[in-house]
Amino acid sequence: HDSKLPNITWSIFSQMSALAEQYQAINLSQGFPNYPASDRLVALVEKYLRGGYNQYAPMAGVVALREVLAAKVQALYQLNVDPLDEVTITAGGTQALFTAIASIIQPGDEVILFEPAYDSYSPSVEVFGGKVVPIRLRGPAFKIDWDQVREAISTRTKLIIINNPNNPSAMIFSRADLLELERLLAGTAIFLLSDEVYEHLVFDGERHHSVLEFSHLRERSFVVASFGKLLHTTGWKLGYVIAPPRLSQEFRKVHQFNVFSVNTPMQHAIAEFLTDTDTYRSLPAFFQQKRDYLASGLAMSRFRVLPSAGTYFLLIDYSGVSALSELEFAKKLTIEHGVATIPVSSFYSIPLEQRLLRLCFAKSEDTLQQAISALANV
Ligand code: PMP
Ligand code: GLN
Repeated sequence: HDSKLPNITWSIFSQMSALAEQYQAINLSQGFPNYPASDRLVALVEKYLRGGYNQYAPMAGVVALREVLAAKVQALYQLNVDPLDEVTITAGGTQALFTAIASIIQPGDEVILFEPAYDSYSPSVEVFGGKVVPIRLRGPAFKIDWDQVREAISTRTKLIIINNPNNPSAMIFSRADLLELERLLAGTAIFLLSDEVYEHLVFDGERHHSVLEFSHLRERSFVVASFGKLLHTTGWKLGYVIAPPRLSQEFRKVHQFNVFSVNTPMQHAIAEFLTDTDTYRSLPAFFQQKRDYLASGLAMSRFRVLPSAGTYFLLIDYSGVSALSELEFAKKLTIEHGVATIPVSSFYSIPLEQRLLRLCFAKSEDTLQQAISALANV
């Protein structure tokens, strides 16, 4: 019988992490921290595990956690979000994306997204019969031409997906970009899925602009976040979605039969942990220091480092080093030089003629130093 996803194999993140393991390479490929999570946070999980919080959480999430998240939105963006009707706790950003797409996409619907695009978007749309309409952005600037977006919109356009800050380009949307998007969507019935899992990882004194700040975007948006990025705990697979009540209701209709509810003791622990606002206010400086360490360490190498305005990734251009394709060169770097990275072409439906690799800098300084030394010898 026909596969629903005939062109899909195992993700590039699984492939490159496996290759790194096989060759004992420094793994800057898949995005995850290699240093421990906060002791205080882990102790809180233990407290709730031992305290008997081991049964189903409410379907939409532990109320104390939804309240602390609404307080975070208030603190960061001076906006009111209703914790009961607008916040839903999920099993990571991936499930939030999938469930939001499931709750609105019907066969034949068109979904506009921007490439390079995170790998889960297209398959999640296609498994529900939606058609992806990609808009290809080019490095090094990855700038969006909003006239091109206007031309891509048709009567079948149901959804636009954005990712800000962007994995893998490390670019952020300006306020002007979001105003353009708002103008474009005014008067349409198009929904917006805004993947903001890196909202706290914005550097150089810039600030993240959430679609929540733009009322005509907020009214049509699912905003996706991930505790993996917020707490350096990608293995916990917890996240959340913020959406207006009518969209949250549709989201929860699917969510209750997708996972019903998610990990109870961890939700309580995170709620208590996040009452200290330093836990998230300290993130930009923490990651900027790592970005600068890696970028300045590579300055003397033959690679050209592209600017990273947000996320825990930076791109390097190797066109001065090799003419191999990105996948071939990424494999060679892993096997022969002991550093695993991600080819940026894997974020495009049709690869562009670029020579770019993505490096994750959510690593200990020691690991970053080893990678710098290895890359200096290429
Ligand atoms: N969106 C983007 C852009 C991501 O980079 C990630 C994590 N790599 C996710 C979503 C998924 O988040 P989670 O790990 O919480 O499922
Ligand atoms: N989001 C991570 C990345 O971009 C990977 C997540 C995954 O392996 N699915 O590297």
